[in-house]
Amino acid sequence: MYVKIGGVQKFSLLDYPDKISAIIFTAGCNFHCGYCHNPELFSSNSEWSENKVLEFLKSREGKLDGVVVTGGEPTIHKDLPDLIKKIKSLGFLVKLDTNGTNPGMLKYLIDFKMIDYAAMDIKAPLYKYKIITGIEPVGIEESIKILLQNNIPYEFRTTALASQLEIKDFEKIGKMIDGADKYFIQKFVPSKILNPKLLADRGYTNSEINSIITILNKYIKSVGIR
Ligand code: SF4
Repeated sequence: MYVKIGGVQKFSLLDYPDKISAIIFTAGCNFHCGYCHNPELFSSNSEWSENKVLEFLKSREGKLDGVVVTGGEPTIHKDLPDLIKKIKSLGFLVKLDTNGTNPGMLKYLIDFKMIDYAAMDIKAPLYKYKIITGIEPVGIEESIKILLQNNIPYEFRTTALASQLEIKDFEKIGKMIDGADKYFIQKFVPSKILNPKLLADRGYTNSEINSIITILNKYIKSVGIR
């Protein structure tokens, strides 16, 4: 079986820290976040097949450092490790973006040195996951634990909407990932999203952002905003 590919971005300077990368978007996700930027990936009829992706990557050898595998949610595809193995055999570093719901696969990919960097979403404190993602969270705490073992470089990140996350929620998020190396608050940028009602999100004030950073700095070594 092949991993269903939703699309490819051929070049990025932003998505893999300090690397020039291409981005592979796998199709489908087990969450249904209202602010999802990639809703088209839910019903993808992409022109990209695994073979076409690999052919493209072969043509980029020596020109790109790495490949970001993102979604959707890549780890819902049981054949993801095979695809990543093929990408690595071309000599690329691999960064995985995940929502953390498949700790078994995350651990496998780390243990077998198949990924070089992981970025995991922390959608909310656990009690709010269902409100934000539409799904009861499973595996989140275990995935956090796996990344906190520091076997590969990693980051946690939250797309933060003032209408969904109160300041006090960040205290709970800090506790969830206590001791983490890196965390980013991703400012919500209204665009094509699943739930248009969220387009009215007011955003945080500068003073609210400062309070959030002060809270998170108690738990995390480096807190950034993007
Ligand atoms: S986890 Fe990511 S890809 Fe999946 S619905 Fe949420 S924002 Fe979209």
